Amino acid sequence: MNQTKTRFAPSPTGLMHLGNARTALLSALYGSRFLLRIEDTDPERSREEFVRDLLFDLAWLGLRWDEGPCSAQPGADFFQSRRSAIYAGYYARLQAEQRAYPCFCSPGELEIARKIQLNAGQPPRYNGTCARLDATEVARRQAEGLAATLRFRVPKHQTVLFEDAIRGPQTFLTDTLGDFIIRRADGSPAFFFCNAIDDALMGVTDVIRGEDHLTNTPRQMLILAALELPVPRYAHISLILGDDGAPLSKRNGSRSIRQLREEGYFPAAVVNMLARLGLTYQDDACLDLDALRQGFDLNRLSKSPARFDPVHLNHWQHKAVRSVDDATLWDWLHPECRALVPAACQADFLTLVRGNCVFPADADEWARLLFTDEWNLTPTVAAEVQAAGEPFFLALLDAATACEDDFDAFMARIKTTSGRKGKALFMPLRLALTGRHDGPDMGQIYRMLTPERLRGRLAEFTYPSQ
Ligand code: GLU
Repeated sequence: MNQTKTRFAPSPTGLMHLGNARTALLSALYGSRFLLRIEDTDPERSREEFVRDLLFDLAWLGLRWDEGPCSAQPGADFFQSRRSAIYAGYYARLQAEQRAYPCFCSPGELEIARKIQLNAGQPPRYNGTCARLDATEVARRQAEGLAATLRFRVPKHQTVLFEDAIRGPQTFLTDTLGDFIIRRADGSPAFFFCNAIDDALMGVTDVIRGEDHLTNTPRQMLILAALELPVPRYAHISLILGDDGAPLSKRNGSRSIRQLREEGYFPAAVVNMLARLGLTYQDDACLDLDALRQGFDLNRLSKSPARFDPVHLNHWQHKAVRSVDDATLWDWLHPECRALVPAACQADFLTLVRGNCVFPADADEWARLLFTDEWNLTPTVAAEVQAAGEPFFLALLDAATACEDDFDAFMARIKTTSGRKGKALFMPLRLALTGRHDGPDMGQIYRMLTPERLRGRLAEFTYPSQ
């Protein structure tokens, strides 16, 4: 296998949502080494708690990084806020080689120039005022203490070409770019500057990221070429849209990874749903990351927008509940639910959960029905049960008393004494014991209800109300 190093480079300015999680997942699936870098160069918006959340979310999803925070890589620092000295060296080199220049234009001046260009029907780009300043003038303005950004001098009349692994050949003319800012007036680096430098310095071979970064790529390639740094391969993945066709946002159902975790989703459900957006896997089982990695093919990833459908997520959640091991399933239940389940019923209860629950709250409901007396039949269900008639319940009560611990014997006896079978037997029994038309195997319900509770529920129907 070729050595591929991919990376996930989040800016810690908010909680991880499905879009970032997909970028991280696809990068982790594709790379033979996976690197995590925290792009915290924006002091206003970056927050330490978001870094903590990001690390936690990635670990929860099972996306372990080979290099990154806490990976004990000597020397490397994976937080961009601590790499300013490295960037400073590259700024100095670009300036010394006349490939970057200070720009003193104020935001107001830039805005006026932009409006003039737009009114003339031209796309707005930097008009080059400060590109023409001579060294004396630059020195004079600097001596005056005027704030300046640093702009990259884009070479004229060139074409930037690259082959995107998903979107195919890409061509950009440098004359359409305009000299762009690589360092802000407050000294902080523009994101795509340090992002490109770090990809090169950290040996990233393949950059997989959202297509919203596609237009940054030619700028980044120009920076790397000017600094004689290696250029990675790029793959720009389509954005995730909501079911209304708009980019995924809170309004159309996007939820943060933390929220999904708190709602009881399993990481395997989130990961399988995300891995299969825009990519078909032969195997429709809930796959672990190794299996997803084996079936992953970046070049087959669709370039059309991927649609998030909550029904798909729940489909994978359903499968995950069925495929996780007993210990994981038990831990997933709410503590109040676990507290209700007697030790002797644990195995039966987990079988019930696997077959009948999608979220922990569903299991709460079953625990309440089976292990407490806090339940009520709705009047409609009560009427349906009563329709089976008192003699049937007297026969059930007799069988339950005679065959307390033996469901098969109970069934044999009730079939003989009541003359009922099939649905006519099971449905009123199920409803009387659980209040629900569906649910687990009757034998499990029978075993999990204490004999007193079982008889108590049946006895309810031996004196029908008038
Ligand atoms: N920090 C950037 C972001 O979160 C990374 C972009 C990239 O992957 O190159 O959008």
